[in-house]
Amino acid sequence: MTEKPANKDPFVAMVTARADVNLRLSDFHPRSMLLTPVHEVNRPKFPVIDYHNHLDAQEPREVLKIMDECGIEKIVNITMLTGEAALQMIRKYHTASPDRFATYGWMDWSEVQSTGFFQRSVERLERLVERGACGLKIWKDLGTLVKDGDGKLLRIDDERLDPLYEKAAELSVPIMYHIADPDAFFLPIDATNERYEELAAHPEWSYHNSHFGKLELLAQRDRVIEAHPKTTFVGAHVAEHPEDLAYVSKLLDSNPNLYVDIGARCAELGRQPYTAREFFLKYADRILFGTDLIPEVNMYRLHYRFLETRDEYFEYPSHASRQGRWNIYGLFLPDDVLRKVYRENAIRLHARH
Ligand SMILES: [Zn+2]
Repeated sequence: MTEKPANKDPFVAMVTARADVNLRLSDFHPRSMLLTPVHEVNRPKFPVIDYHNHLDAQEPREVLKIMDECGIEKIVNITMLTGEAALQMIRKYHTASPDRFATYGWMDWSEVQSTGFFQRSVERLERLVERGACGLKIWKDLGTLVKDGDGKLLRIDDERLDPLYEKAAELSVPIMYHIADPDAFFLPIDATNERYEELAAHPEWSYHNSHFGKLELLAQRDRVIEAHPKTTFVGAHVAEHPEDLAYVSKLLDSNPNLYVDIGARCAELGRQPYTAREFFLKYADRILFGTDLIPEVNMYRLHYRFLETRDEYFEYPSHASRQGRWNIYGLFLPDDVLRKVYRENAIRLHARH
C-alpha cells in the first residue's frame, strides 16, 4: 500500500490551505456576525468634562447644543493658536459661556532662536493665565523639531525650560504634555505596522526616522515630571503609552503630580479591557476624560458606551482614517470611578481657576 503524500490528505490540505487574494485593503470592510448585547448610552450617567479638545475652528453655539444633548458640562479647549490670537480665542469662548468652556494655552515657540526666549516664555504664560487660560500645552514639536539658537534640537528636559515649569506651579496651572505618539508611528510604514492604514493616510505622522526614539522622548519627559514635583502635569493620551499600561502605572506611582487623559486612546484601552479596567480602578483619581475629537453626538456616545457598559467588540470613537483594524470592549466602570474620571478629577485640577 502506498502512502498518500501529506499534502493530498484532505484534513492536512484543509488546515494548511492559505488564501492568496488581491482584494484591496481599502475595499475590505468586514461586518462582525457576533450577536452580543448592545447598550447605546445616549447620555452619561454623570455630568462630563471633556478635558481634551480643540475648538478653535468651532462655533461655540453649535458646540453648546451638542454638549447639552450629550450631558457635557464643560469642554476644555486647547487652543492651537499663540500670541494675540490665543488671547482672542480665550475671550471668544469665555464670552460664549464662562461656565461651559475653559481654555488651555499652546506653547509658543516663535523666536525660540533669539536671546531671552526662555524668559519670554515665562512672561507669555503669565499673560495667558492672566487672561483666563487654565493650563499650557506642550506639543510633540518639542523633542522632534524645535531647535535652539545654536541650531540644536531642543531636548524635552532642557533645563532652560525649568523656570516655565516653576512658574506654572506658582500660578497653579497644569502643564499638559503631548510629546511622542503611538508606538507604531515610530516603526516603518509596512505590512507589519498595526496602524498601516492610518499612517498611509497621514504619512507625515510617521516618526520612523526621528532623532530621539519613542522611549527616549518619554524618558526625557519623565525626568521633567520628576524634577518638578510642585508642578502638576497632565500626560495627554494616557501619557503617550497606553500600549504599555504597566509603564504608565509606574510613572503614576512615582509622580503624584501627574494626571493622564484618555483623549483619542479608546482604541488602545478598549482592546485590552482586563488590564485597562484594572488601570481605571487603581488610578481613578488620576485619569481625566478627554476626547481629542470634533464634538459630535455619536463620538461622545461611543465614549460612554466604552466606559459604562460591558458591551463587546464594537467600534471605537476615532477620526476618519481609524487607528487600527480592531474593535473594543466596554469597561463597565463603577459609579465612583465614573464620577471621578468624568468630572471630579478635572474640577480638582482647576479648583483655583
Ligand atoms: Zn489634542
